[in-house]
Amino acid sequence: MEIDDLGDWRRTHYTADITPELDGQEVIVMGWIREIRDLGGIRFIVLQDRLGKVQITIPESKVDEEALRKSSSLHRQDCIAIKGIVRGMEKAPRGVEIIPKEIKVLGIAKHPLPIDVTGRTPADIDVRLDARVLDLRSDRSQAIFKIRHVVLEATRNFLSKRGFLEVNTPKIIASATEGGAALFPVIYFEREAFLAQSPQLYKEELIIDFEKVYEIGPAYRAEKSHTRRHITEFISIDIEEAFVTAEDVMRLAEELMQFICRVVREKCKEELEVLNHNVEVPKLPLKRLTYDEVLDELRELGIKLEWGEDIPTMGYRALGKVHPYFYFIIDWPTRLKPFYIKPKDDNPEISEGFDLMWSWIEIASGGTRVHKKDLLMKRLKEQGLHPESFKYHLQSFDYGMPPHAGWAIGLERLIMMLTGIKNIREVVLFPRDRFRLTP
Ligand code: ATP
Repeated sequence: MEIDDLGDWRRTHYTADITPELDGQEVIVMGWIREIRDLGGIRFIVLQDRLGKVQITIPESKVDEEALRKSSSLHRQDCIAIKGIVRGMEKAPRGVEIIPKEIKVLGIAKHPLPIDVTGRTPADIDVRLDARVLDLRSDRSQAIFKIRHVVLEATRNFLSKRGFLEVNTPKIIASATEGGAALFPVIYFEREAFLAQSPQLYKEELIIDFEKVYEIGPAYRAEKSHTRRHITEFISIDIEEAFVTAEDVMRLAEELMQFICRVVREKCKEELEVLNHNVEVPKLPLKRLTYDEVLDELRELGIKLEWGEDIPTMGYRALGKVHPYFYFIIDWPTRLKPFYIKPKDDNPEISEGFDLMWSWIEIASGGTRVHKKDLLMKRLKEQGLHPESFKYHLQSFDYGMPPHAGWAIGLERLIMMLTGIKNIREVVLFPRDRFRLTP
């Protein structure tokens, strides 16, 4: 089939704007064929664009010969433009249809398609990800990414209103600074560099200049763990604020969670329906469980952990059954937290670090930061890190570093919670994990 050019055709209406009130009017609509049915003598096309769908009805006896010829060679997922007349028709979906006068075929879909976008024939996640561009056209994917958009927009509005400045810090960094997670090395001209695992050090430095900053950007982790909640490239929503402590930023985090849930409930009703998912707006304040209380609860559930031990996944799973929604875990042993988390003044074994949990999944972590240079150097050494590799970061502590606190939310984990999607890969356009680097 020949592919047409757009020429002077311009869309006059989105499909969703085609209503029975337009009866008799000539319109141009553009989009993809979602379904096509030939009933002999009459052909029906469901045309979909980014805002909705409309029925195109092609009665053989009433349509121009050229349009009829073109319509007979169309397939699902072909991209077309229709110039036609709107007709109010009770039997059609939304009570309206378009009778074409002219058809342009703008893009052809090669059949058989690798997956069924309607989802009627379900496909394995890897098959779907291999054909991701097509998979993203499904109602399910469209709903997920609309919600993701709304969450990002709500987050920016919320933080901006609270006086946070949006920043972008480098993602190519000189040394494997923070410790903890493994980094990806990159070849940087004649040197080795790394992809940033988080904006932690930069955002702390920037509070000297801006007091309240946030960044929404990629974070890279050479995660060996191949789980349904880990990917190697995720989006981190980071904030850092001067002159506050962990409790202040926990309040900010829970208010943001409440705001996001409220906005998603309001703005994404249809999407939540497609996903068959309900979002509850949490009541504040969220529960704050201490690490010691978590150990006690787990002991009662038959999981015995020594004080100072990290909580294993099966511990979190058990905890998530008792606490199925949002809660914080506070008062973590200092040794389980990164060097920049402040130990408590009255008991340095315990830190001012916290995690924000949703059921068994960690959504965010944060805390009061160490703002005294001596203590920071001591903590670095205790964790086996070398102060020399933190030269520039430590230098910033000589420029009047204020007390500060902050957190990082994993955007994809939050979206999993808001959509009910169980595999993190589904809420990322083109996910990266240990085994997947394409498409
Ligand atoms: P986890 O213990 O679940 O691996 P973490 O303790 O390594 O997470 P942090 O370094 O505290 O995570 O990062 C802050 C947030 O970033 C986490 O709460 C989580 O929401 C998100 N996050 C961290 N690693 C990943 C990952 N590999 N994939 C997706 N999100 C992640």
